Amino acid sequence: MPDLQAIVDEIHEKLQPRLGEGKVADYIPQLAHVDPKKFGIAIIDVDGQNYKAGDADVPFSIQSVSKVFTLTLALGKHGETTWNRVGREPSGSAFNSIVQLEHEEGKPRNPFINAGAIAVSDLVLAGHTPREAIGEIVRFVRYLADDDTIAIDPEVAKSEHATGYRNFALANFMRSFNKLTHPVEHVLGVYFHHCALAMTCTQLARSGLFLAASGRNPLTGHTVVSRQRARRINALMLTCGHYDGSGDFAYRVGLPGKSGVGGGILAVAPGKASVAVWSPGLNNHGNSLLGSLALEMLAHRTGWSVFGP
Ligand code: GLN
Repeated sequence: MPDLQAIVDEIHEKLQPRLGEGKVADYIPQLAHVDPKKFGIAIIDVDGQNYKAGDADVPFSIQSVSKVFTLTLALGKHGETTWNRVGREPSGSAFNSIVQLEHEEGKPRNPFINAGAIAVSDLVLAGHTPREAIGEIVRFVRYLADDDTIAIDPEVAKSEHATGYRNFALANFMRSFNKLTHPVEHVLGVYFHHCALAMTCTQLARSGLFLAASGRNPLTGHTVVSRQRARRINALMLTCGHYDGSGDFAYRVGLPGKSGVGGGILAVAPGKASVAVWSPGLNNHGNSLLGSLALEMLAHRTGWSVFGP
């Protein structure tokens, strides 16, 4: 194993002069007011060893990174029938794009664009009230991270709702094609709340560890998903986890990853480690600019890649 503590320290150090680059999401005040110079990185390897640097223990809004956890829950509840409701192809368009939905009759391209995650929220709602479904998601993430302090930021959830015109448009459009089974208000209530989960890099890396360890969380001994399902979720993260920037992320980093507009990225080095980075400044695809760069540096220094030794 490479000296991971030395590597994260070096990445943190090298990025110091660039902190603040990129554009912080400003569609809600809670994101607009985050200090753009924050930077954190946390790695948990499959033996449970933890390495971190910078603001790795400062909570931030995980936003779309949460879509990995809701997809995992939906697959657990509905198995392969999940794919009747949402596709598995990269979209090549922005995370909140509506154009493809009309051509494809309300079936979103993949579970990580907003439309797809809204369809997944509808699946997680099955048999529940919105409050129960939100509770189930929070309990699931706490179980994954083995940390009962993880919570939703209610102010973020409220702002997401207040400014969620596009998400309402996407959900109403899907509903018009009979592609949602619950009322739009309920489905978006679930969606906005899971986007508002607040977590630290350390908590996020712990939550993603099952994906690096064939479906089993080595910290708790719990089998979360089968080996095959872990591989498949990783495949979706690699192909779709960065929206229309997924190809570039795969080229530069070579690992499955999922970004969020809060500036977080969860990346998975299968058989090696789970990594979370946070830097609020985004590139023009809505992915963390320095977070992607940090992961590129990490992949380069460790040699981790899903494409070859
Ligand atoms: N809450 C955000 C939205 O729905 C999530 C988007 C993201 O993180 N890319 O627009």
